Amino acid sequence: MSMESPTSRQAVLEWLREEGKRVASLFSEADRVRQERVGDEVHLRGLIEVSNHCRRQCHYCGIRAGRRTERYRMTESEVFDCVRLAVKLEYGTVVLQAGEDPGISTESVTGLVRRIKSETPLAVTLSLGERKLAELEEWRAAGADRYLLKHETSDDELFRRIHPACGDEELHRLELLRRIKAMGYETGSGVMVGIPGQTYESLADDLFRFRELDLEMIGCGPFVPHPETPLGQSNVLSPESQVPATDTMTLKVVALARLMCPDANIPSTTALATVNREKGRELGLLSGANVWMPNLTPSKYRVLYEVYPGKAKAPDTAEEFHQKLLATLAALGRRPGKGPGGRNTQAKSEVRS
Ligand code: SAM
Repeated sequence: MSMESPTSRQAVLEWLREEGKRVASLFSEADRVRQERVGDEVHLRGLIEVSNHCRRQCHYCGIRAGRRTERYRMTESEVFDCVRLAVKLEYGTVVLQAGEDPGISTESVTGLVRRIKSETPLAVTLSLGERKLAELEEWRAAGADRYLLKHETSDDELFRRIHPACGDEELHRLELLRRIKAMGYETGSGVMVGIPGQTYESLADDLFRFRELDLEMIGCGPFVPHPETPLGQSNVLSPESQVPATDTMTLKVVALARLMCPDANIPSTTALATVNREKGRELGLLSGANVWMPNLTPSKYRVLYEVYPGKAKAPDTAEEFHQKLLATLAALGRRPGKGPGGRNTQAKSEVRS
């Protein structure tokens, strides 16, 4: 029997607070809707963490400005080695992610995007923070397909508290996301689940926000405290109000996102696999997720891109990890996606078939 997609804030809140046996039915319904709407393919997006320099001081993030840690910025040739690896492993997309790094120039990204688009069949996702509208336009014109910028929380007061402004922002982050979408990017956003200060009500609002923004990609991972950041120890709300940063709560958000935005691409995130090392990734894929973002960053840099502890522990090379990934997918009865795996391409192939 199929379950209605929750349409009221009250219904979403009830699911977020549900702790009994009904939770299993939420996960299985999200899995059913995932299969019906986006199929059994799991799209593989090779993540390349191109720089850990950042001008921001986000209270949650281990690569925030001012934290004493070794900084790196990959050369174009190093990035391109990772791009070639993505092609070899038959991934459909590369994701170029970094701290908000002014040392990454507009032209360098334009050149890289042009080169990837002309020399490979890959889709390109950029995740470089709040960059200027003019450069976002230029990168789109150069061929970038997608932009990923999480709004982290739709509670404006909380967002401002944990994400101090630099003072030269052109737009509020939500408005920036709308503009990115209007530029023709497939647009991704998402939230951290269990940020200290996050209420159930604001998390419910986040889910409606995904729908309102008509996102192509929705990434939700648990907040993982980093001890060397301001949010490393704090838990500012009472236990009744504070959303816990657990795997189960994150899976509920993934499942609700699938029910409320059935055609979106939804990753089973690394943060989820970090809080539940045994089964987090699989459980995400069984609760509505259809995307996996394997990390292609060279290990000497990966250990320095420590946005939260435990993230970089995996000792595998990309090739070793890929073999495990294929085995995991096979065991779940799923298969790697073919081609770029955008929401738009899926819709087009549905029309053709
Ligand atoms: N600078 C870009 C930006 O801000 O969008 C991309 C890099 S940023 C490090 C990527 C994501 O890491 C953020 O959107 C945030 O959700 C996640 N992140 C950072 N610190 C985290 C933490 N302590 N726990 C979980 N996720 C975290």
